[in-house]
Amino acid sequence: MSDILKVENLEVVYNDVVLVLKGLSLSCPRGEITALLGANGAGKSTTLKAISGLLETEDGKVTDGSIVYNDEPIQGIIPEKIVRKGVFQVMEGRRIFEDLTVEENLKCGAFTRPRSEIAGSMEKVYDYFPRLKERRKQLAGYMSGGEQQMCAIGRAIMARPELLLLDEPSLGLAPMLVEEIFDIIKKFNAAEDVTVLLVEQNARAALSVAKQAYIMENGRVVMDGTATDLLNNPDVQEFYLGMG
Ligand code: ATP
Repeated sequence: MSDILKVENLEVVYNDVVLVLKGLSLSCPRGEITALLGANGAGKSTTLKAISGLLETEDGKVTDGSIVYNDEPIQGIIPEKIVRKGVFQVMEGRRIFEDLTVEENLKCGAFTRPRSEIAGSMEKVYDYFPRLKERRKQLAGYMSGGEQQMCAIGRAIMARPELLLLDEPSLGLAPMLVEEIFDIIKKFNAAEDVTVLLVEQNARAALSVAKQAYIMENGRVVMDGTATDLLNNPDVQEFYLGMG
């Protein structure tokens, strides 16, 4: 199976001084869910921002290595063009527009799509998240944390991405909601043939939906393998699954 995304030996520096990614390599097989795991500060969000072109907005810079998407190098391309190429990132902390309704938030995700396709996509999002349909006229800022996360993912679905980058969708959610959201990510991945790169601190939840995973420490990948192998690995069990 071909890789839709290939990151090789990536180095990222913030503010010209802080080296945060120190030669990171990973690849995402087309159509599958790949998880990127690791503790706080390992560099997971930085990796996603490097891929989606958002690093520059935070004084970050790729100083070495390559990011190849659909066989084309994409580093240095502005975020809007990267979205148009089919890469969409759901940022950590559900960055939705709080003063817009759910429906307006969803429409924002479709800014690259022809108008004629928007209604159909909106129905699709409501099929995945019936709760969003019930609340479609409500201001997004008044929704619960879980509903806001659904709205953020719904907005990404509206963009009809080929590669979906998800940054900690489980953050701050109750276990039952985590399960609900991960089930939907899995359904969406299977039904729409979307490749997913999922950044998570909740290794157990991520490995339950991912096909393969990378574990990062201090700006580098320290372990990788199929989700099944990692779930059965004693070191992973001890350090990332709390089974030690
Ligand atoms: P978390 O789960 O806490 O978000 P992470 O693995 O996603 O962790 P990053 O957010 O990528 O890690 O951060 C990696 C390192 O880069 C941290 O040491 C962080 O302090 C630093 N860093 C992140 N963003 C910036 C920034 N805009 N300017 C300077 N340093 C930054």
